[in-house]
Amino acid sequence: MDILQKVLSLCKRRGLVIQSAEIYGGAKSLYDFGHLGFLIKENIKEFWKQSLLFSDESIFFIDGSILLPFPVFKASGHIDCFTDPLVDCKECKIRFRPDKVEKELGELKCPSCGSKNISDPRLFNLMFRTTLGPVDQLEEILTFVLQNSSKSKEEILKDLQEQILKSSVFLRPETAQNIFCQFMNLTKSYPRKLPFGIAQIGRAFRNEITTEKFLFRVAEFEQMELEFFVKSQDENFYFDYWLDKRVTWWKKIINSDSNLRIREYSQNELAHYAKRCCDIEFKFPWGFDEVEGVASRSDYDLLAHARASGKDFFVLESSEQRGGQVKIVPWVIEPSCGLTRAFLAVILDAYSEEPGVDAEGQEKVRTVMKLKPFLAPYKAAVFPLVKNEELIKLSKLIHDELKRRRLYSCVEENQSIGKRYAKHDEIGTPFCITVDFNSLKDESVTVRDRDSTEQVRCHWKEAVDNVVSLCQMPA
Ligand code: ATP
Repeated sequence: MDILQKVLSLCKRRGLVIQSAEIYGGAKSLYDFGHLGFLIKENIKEFWKQSLLFSDESIFFIDGSILLPFPVFKASGHIDCFTDPLVDCKECKIRFRPDKVEKELGELKCPSCGSKNISDPRLFNLMFRTTLGPVDQLEEILTFVLQNSSKSKEEILKDLQEQILKSSVFLRPETAQNIFCQFMNLTKSYPRKLPFGIAQIGRAFRNEITTEKFLFRVAEFEQMELEFFVKSQDENFYFDYWLDKRVTWWKKIINSDSNLRIREYSQNELAHYAKRCCDIEFKFPWGFDEVEGVASRSDYDLLAHARASGKDFFVLESSEQRGGQVKIVPWVIEPSCGLTRAFLAVILDAYSEEPGVDAEGQEKVRTVMKLKPFLAPYKAAVFPLVKNEELIKLSKLIHDELKRRRLYSCVEENQSIGKRYAKHDEIGTPFCITVDFNSLKDESVTVRDRDSTEQVRCHWKEAVDNVVSLCQMPA
């Protein structure tokens, strides 16, 4: 079994991530996060949020709506350009992206049946479309067709498509557009001098043609995006600044630096408005692949919305040359991080198999999720050695103290100690605290470290202090 498969089955077994609607056969690219998966994801999110709130830069947040109307995405270019090429295999009828499959001697081959009988590529828009309000689209379509029956079939289709698009709302394919659209409102309420940033964490949706590799490419995912507004002359400086900051952030959630790298886009890969773009890549089991993009987007987005809405988009800056204040359109540096992909990268990086022994002393593989302690769902698990009222009472007291110190933890009293260790190794609990009969005499406990399996004996209050300090979120 490859590592992706192993991590996928661990996620299901321990309830971290489960396929959505599994009882009905599951939806291929939709997943639900269970309690522990949710907690890991929230910890990553919190770390991102804190890294911006407490940074040296002036950054504020927005939580924008997921559904947005047609003009937003017409102006942003998503209606016309947010497409991927799509081909059909004429033999087995599957659809796939020709740019994402390996070619045989330059020829396209179906990834499912191997046939070379493939249709010509056509462009497929990745946005999900729906309607807002009590609209019966079928009725509208019928009325439209009847009213235009003198036109040719092609003309009706073209006009109808345009009509439907214009009256639709779309599930945003990225969070950024809320920020650009609200730029003037937000900067009025929260006036800042350049440079400053507006950040957002939220869901984005893409009707991806190829969904595979577990959480890597899914239809519904979360993004953590920062739009950092600068003077045009500062673009290069802040591009390097944010790239460096974002890589540093990644190094704090990933154990092994060699699992990360930066890939700079060549000139012909760049969007026409982009000045520079780098992907931060993680070493997935299939090779290095993007987890975050850092792009210099010039003034493209603000000007696009200014043109389309007829509104003025600017910030006021004082000018020594001209005296007084001048209006300028800021440029944007955008670090765009996929939270769902970050979660996958974090658990793949943390997954480890090590030699171990089972409860009977037999050699066996120990599966450990070596999550950074601040990302782990439980920071500690407290075990009464056996089911004894006094041991359980002291365990609960320790648990209460951990709760009071705002460390999420649990008491586990079922199963053998070995099985309890194995479970908490798999879900990444960094510390297991065992309460035994000596604990009742001198209040000492045994603290086992998840990664080294080393055990130390100390007073339970010292154990709590240590867990608190070792699970701190890094600055
Ligand atoms: P890719 O080339 O892999 O499709 P992208 O370049 O289109 O990604 P961006 O538009 O730059 O991605 O989005 C920013 C981030 O959002 C990506 O780095 C990734 O982490 C995340 N992301 C994008 N699409 C998906 C998806 N379908 N599922 C999960 N995460 C995604």
